[in-house]
Amino acid sequence: MKKECVLVCGGAGYIGSHTCVELIQAGYDVVVVDNFSNSEPSAIDHVRRITGAEIPLIEADCCDREAFRKVFEKYEFNSAIHFAASKAVGESVQKPMLYYRNNLTSLMNLIDLMHEFNRPNLVFSSSCTVYGEPKKQPVTEQTPRQEATSPYGNTKKISEDILRDAMKAYTDMKTIALRYFNPIGAHPSALIGELPRGVPQNLVPYVTQTAAGIRECLSIFGDDYPTPDGSCIRDYIDVVDLAKAHVAAINRMTQGKSEANFEVFNIGTGRGVSVLELANKFQQVNHLKLNYKIAPRREGDIIAIWADPTRANTVLGWKAERTLDETLESAWNWEKHLRGIE
Ligand code: UDP
Repeated sequence: MKKECVLVCGGAGYIGSHTCVELIQAGYDVVVVDNFSNSEPSAIDHVRRITGAEIPLIEADCCDREAFRKVFEKYEFNSAIHFAASKAVGESVQKPMLYYRNNLTSLMNLIDLMHEFNRPNLVFSSSCTVYGEPKKQPVTEQTPRQEATSPYGNTKKISEDILRDAMKAYTDMKTIALRYFNPIGAHPSALIGELPRGVPQNLVPYVTQTAAGIRECLSIFGDDYPTPDGSCIRDYIDVVDLAKAHVAAINRMTQGKSEANFEVFNIGTGRGVSVLELANKFQQVNHLKLNYKIAPRREGDIIAIWADPTRANTVLGWKAERTLDETLESAWNWEKHLRGIE
């Protein structure tokens, strides 16, 4: 029997590459399109090595509609996942037009082409950033969205709105938007993981690079927040667990289980962890000493947010499984693999 195929836009990236592995291991074929603006083709070689699968890899920019159209003309698939977006919050403040153009054009092209070619199922990478600074924890999918604090965050909000409106008109299509909390960690094989370019802006890559001696010292941005230890709180979700949420979303749509043709799920663990807790746990599970200091608050940071993942647990049938210890170990194994550290 021919396998169901999924088009993975941005499949060479951090979450995309892990999702390719999980899709293949769940019995799907994948086709990857990526412009390598923030990824490397070698990630797909590593996915091939982990899975033993053949993976067509097309170098194209999803913003280039004619190049993107050729992928639809050549390959048969019923489902697509949109990871092809820029994601650095700080950069988005400096280059807002790049973010709006990139993130929205690639999504609009995908919706248009899926509609034109009758490819019904779409999974969209949204973010807990749409909740802003929540008034109440944990956040459910009903928690009101708030004004975005960065152009990046706004692209996620606008993308959800575009999809909601498009699905009202295109009733033969379905979308599941997954609101990710903070993805961290790497595949247990240590063959794929996050590849930040330049100085990492996110906590865990900064932590692993500090442990590897590439950065001198981790700055913990603020210890005077109104939280138990004074540092910010996030819901850190293992990237393999997150990848599996995409498989659950594709299964749900291909098996005709969706209750509406636009659905939203929080993808988190349900556990809030502070920056200090994370730094300490990293040292503990990896038996090393991390050089860190308390630094001033970082502008624009949310104080605390964590997910109520009940809807994903019960309706989507997905649950975070890896422990924070395992995830932090995988993050360090990946960094060691990258740097050739034993
Ligand atoms: N953070 C930190 N030092 C760093 C990077 C991040 O203390 O070098 C903190 C940041 O202030 C936030 C948390 O770690 O409270 C997670 O930040 P990240 O940028 O990874 O994700 P965000 O939730 O801000 O998108």
